[in-house]
Amino acid sequence: MKIRRMLGLDIERERYAFAKDEVVGHISAQKVADTWVKTTCGYCSVGCGMVIGVRDGKAVTSRGDVNHPVNRGKLCPKGLAEHYVLDADNRARYPLLRRNDALSRVTWDTAFDTMAGEFQRVSQKYGPQAIGVISTGQLVTEEFYTLGKLVQLGIGTPHYDGNTTLCMSTAVAGYKRSFGSDGPPGAYEDMAKADVVLLIGANVAENHPILCMHLDDNPSKTLIVADPRVTKTAMMADLYLPVRPRSDLALVNGIAHILIRDDLIDRDYIEQHTNGFDDLRTFLEKYHPDYVSGITGLSTEMIQKVAHLYGDAKSAFIGWTMGVNHSSKGTETVNAINNLALMTGNVGRVGGSPFSITGQCNAMGSREASFSSSLPGYRKFESETDREDLARLWDIPPGCIPSKRGLAYPDIITAVLTKKIRALWIIATNPLVSFPNIAVLKQALGRLEFLVVQDGFHPTPTTELAHLVLPAAIWGEKEGTYTNSERRVSKANPAVAPPGEALSDFEIFLRFAKKIGSYDKLFPGWSRPKDAFEEWKRVSEGRLCDYSGITYQALEEVGGIQWPYPKDSTEPAEASRRLYTDGTFQTRDGRAQFFCVDWEPFPEQPSQDFPFILNTGRTVEHWHTRTKTGAVPILEQIAPRAWLEMNPVDATRLALRPHDPVDLISRRGRVRSVELRVTEVIAPGQVFVPFHFAEWNINQVTQDIFDPISREPNYKQCAVRVEKSSTVLA
Ligand code: SF4
Repeated sequence: MKIRRMLGLDIERERYAFAKDEVVGHISAQKVADTWVKTTCGYCSVGCGMVIGVRDGKAVTSRGDVNHPVNRGKLCPKGLAEHYVLDADNRARYPLLRRNDALSRVTWDTAFDTMAGEFQRVSQKYGPQAIGVISTGQLVTEEFYTLGKLVQLGIGTPHYDGNTTLCMSTAVAGYKRSFGSDGPPGAYEDMAKADVVLLIGANVAENHPILCMHLDDNPSKTLIVADPRVTKTAMMADLYLPVRPRSDLALVNGIAHILIRDDLIDRDYIEQHTNGFDDLRTFLEKYHPDYVSGITGLSTEMIQKVAHLYGDAKSAFIGWTMGVNHSSKGTETVNAINNLALMTGNVGRVGGSPFSITGQCNAMGSREASFSSSLPGYRKFESETDREDLARLWDIPPGCIPSKRGLAYPDIITAVLTKKIRALWIIATNPLVSFPNIAVLKQALGRLEFLVVQDGFHPTPTTELAHLVLPAAIWGEKEGTYTNSERRVSKANPAVAPPGEALSDFEIFLRFAKKIGSYDKLFPGWSRPKDAFEEWKRVSEGRLCDYSGITYQALEEVGGIQWPYPKDSTEPAEASRRLYTDGTFQTRDGRAQFFCVDWEPFPEQPSQDFPFILNTGRTVEHWHTRTKTGAVPILEQIAPRAWLEMNPVDATRLALRPHDPVDLISRRGRVRSVELRVTEVIAPGQVFVPFHFAEWNINQVTQDIFDPISREPNYKQCAVRVEKSSTVLA
């Protein structure tokens, strides 16, 4: 190479060579694929269909699937660059065991022997409940189903939850309380069919970009966006509502007050399909526009205008994400949103839905099948009928199935801290970056006798603490299904082999089940994800999330099928479907429930020492803790470091200038040397920092306060101060 360079020859020739592609014309020759593999994006819950181009056994490009109903050929920047994660330098390749305080390579046999031995030791000494498991929203549904059985019936601990509790458990709990079951009732098509779309705390332009395509399908609708920040989504709105942080519940109650006062409600629907309306009407009397204006900072005229737009619409859609969910009042805010939809009959109607836009690619699959917050198939732990039903399907005694949910994620961490849990298995998540008030988490993990971390990446801040690291295959390397936010099941397929000795999570679960003697009882004869899928179809049959008519072949053909899709369905597989179209809900009497839910201020108000309200969130370039996207050069170069947004009024008062390094301090910790962005996107008195960065980990300052119903953290608001940093920007 050196000689060629000295001779003046073009050593970059191969890198810059062009070739002709049938679809897109001239492209880099290195991106010309010899085979194409259809799959589904492994990042967010939009669920875009895509194809991976493979050349000589290596993934060289990702493209949108033009025939997929969700994205019709489009992808966002993360999806377009997704193939790069497959051969990232930080992939986990071999099982690693901690010996003499360092992780060293071992065989899979040694890894499984160690894990089984440690779990058995802990179980014998303290009981199986001293083992905890925290998983993710990124496995395929077949893996969630398998893991749930393995943990609850094989290992025998109920203390199993997913990191999905950190992002959308409030939506789950809110749906269960209002409608009797989890499950977003609408379809993406509703965004195009609604007269009014109200987005609350949902920056879809940045976090779910392809949903903007569905919003754009109907330019005549009115788009209303409520958000404390002037996000990219707010900039798309016909009407932007700059609500004060955590005033969403008051706004929604205020809209409901006006709908009732001005008779913009659907009395027949309320009469026939709901309970609790009279109590709600009395309760909402205090949510007079003047009262709501004082809480939200919106004018009374603006609140009335929004209420009338929503109430006059033939169909109205409300979408929300983390702005609502990341709150200690999150579940109740979801109930207030459901109240609005119910009192106007906007449930199960084309264009009308209270719609939780969820987070990870298969958070929904976890909700449906995982045996963590519910029994598989949205069955309830506390229902004897549901337990007997499952026991019959699995041919086991009903007494084997727990009658109570185990600890939720934050409570597992508390149990680790108090040494009630001694061994922990973390799967495909990175809590050392994502968990609130990280100092407490570090203290807890330091008390574990055994920590096994199963991940596609190493090192991560979490794998570095592990006693055992299990290397797992990721998106693009394994088979299964994902369910997106609109309940559409799509197929994920392997395009390349996993690196080194990494195995699919499914294979790891089966091999571990064999090691602990549970395989024959729980997974007889299973060897492929399809074996789990076929059993899951039987378990879901007749349930709200009925998969029984879905086949792998049909998924490949139509690109995605929304459940419920029973085996005798005569509808076209790819058609849009809604829940509760006949007004019958999953409650005992079939009627939905109104809830009287009161606004209250967020727990840690600003003070003289900590005068700013901190807001955290995502950026379009990155994903979760940046384990994946930080290894994709094109994404990393666009957003290589964290920043802090501050209004010019505050920056001037503090004598801070754009790009100054600043420290962010709360009662719990300090984030050092974050780059200052001075912008009117953020209101005076508030600051915003993206949450992806381990190097500027915002969870050093966030609070470990949780929604009492769903256990979701209150990430969104806490009191901080900002100081000019004594260090320079790295
Ligand atoms: S919008 Fe979500 S699912 Fe679609 S390409 Fe982007 S990250 Fe993937």
